[in-house]
Amino acid sequence: MKVQVDHDRCEGHGKCQMAAPEVFEFRDDDLSYVRLDEIPEELKAKVEKAIRLCPRQAIDWVK
Ligand code: SF4
Repeated sequence: MKVQVDHDRCEGHGKCQMAAPEVFEFRDDDLSYVRLDEIPEELKAKVEKAIRLCPRQAIDWVK
C-alpha cells in the first residue's frame, strides 16, 4: 500500500513524524513527505496512528 500527504492541507505540525519516523520526513519547506514508496506490513499500524493524529487530515492511503 501507498500513503500520501496532501500538501495543501499539511501545516508541518510533525505529529506524523513522531508516530512513524520511518515513513514521514520533513524537507526544507517544513512540510511532511513520504519516504517510502510502498508501506511494509509492519509499518501500517504506525501509519494508521499518524493518520489519526494529523490535525489537518492531510494523510491518507492511496486507493
Ligand atoms: S501531522 Fe499532518 S499536518 Fe502535521 S506534518 Fe504531518 S501531515 Fe502535516
